[in-house]
Amino acid sequence: MIKITEPKDCCGCTACASICVHDAITMEPDALGFLYPMVDKSKCVDCGQCDKVCQFNDNYDRSLNLEQPIAYAARHKEIDEVMKSRSGAAFVAISDYILEQGGVVYGAGYKDHFRVVHKRATTKEERDEFRGSKYVQSDLTGVFRQVKEDLKNGLTVLFSGTPCQTSGLNSYVGKKLRENLILIDIVCHGVPAPFLWRDYIAYLEKKQGDEIVTVNFRDKELFGWKAHKESYKFKRRGG
Ligand SMILES: Cc1cc2nc3c(=O)[nH]c(=O)nc-3n(C[C@H](O)[C@H](O)[C@H](O)COP(=O)(O)OP(=O)(O)OC[C@H]3O[C@@H](n4cnc5c(N)ncnc54)[C@H](O)[C@@H]3O)c2cc1C
Ligand code: SF4
Ligand code: SF4
Repeated sequence: MIKITEPKDCCGCTACASICVHDAITMEPDALGFLYPMVDKSKCVDCGQCDKVCQFNDNYDRSLNLEQPIAYAARHKEIDEVMKSRSGAAFVAISDYILEQGGVVYGAGYKDHFRVVHKRATTKEERDEFRGSKYVQSDLTGVFRQVKEDLKNGLTVLFSGTPCQTSGLNSYVGKKLRENLILIDIVCHGVPAPFLWRDYIAYLEKKQGDEIVTVNFRDKELFGWKAHKESYKFKRRGG
């Protein structure tokens, strides 16, 4: 049964919670809102599946890794797409293709007033919410099982997330179903804490006296390509 003693040994990917057929594992936030697995011992039968699927396990399957990475650089042809994306809009170009082929796309969006969560999209309109980096750990609860269901139903799935999230999904899905799974991992130096983000939103709204309706973690329209500045739009309370 999975047991996390050091925070550095878990990235909150949810693979262990997803694989447990006894639903003995739930993902619980620590003081900063980072998610860690908690085992309900009364439900656990000690089958060891959760330990096996964990990417921090020495036996994590690396058989599909390339010996040397192959690198290409690309930027979207439409400048409007580039302006709306965080970087060169490669994500939009790739996900456009998958959706046009009848596939589904998973990425980071918002729920419950800017809580960052992963969601499923079958149209470009739904996918557009995933554009742009949200510099917060996203909640994957329930998502890996949904991906597996899609793959079992013969759909092509594009999943985009941090490298630790794609590693967890890769391990959870297993070799048999991997053929129709396309993983995009972003270059990532680590995700900030969800509760810090939640409290910062509350602080800004209190200071302004209005409610935030739009967030942009890296606004190119106002601050250009190189600057790393957030922007927020407020709606007058009661207005
Ligand atoms: C936490 C974080 C740290 C990053 N650090 C770096 C860095 O140090 N150096 C660097 O070059 N690039 C970094 N990036 C990546 C960069 O910001 C761009 O997202 C990336 O270059 C892709 O650009 P794009 O224009 O193709 O897509 P974008 O329009 O940026 O699309 C964003 C994609 O990232 C995914 N995504 C957004 N937020 C999250 C999240 N919180 N968790 C998981 N997935 C998410 C979405 O699902 C979507 O697929 C970071 C991104 C994040 C989320
Ligand atoms: S499978 Fe993922 S969530 Fe579970 S312990 Fe390992 S890293 Fe943490
Ligand atoms: S050991 Fe098996 S039953 Fe127990 S939590 Fe892990 S996967 Fe679930």
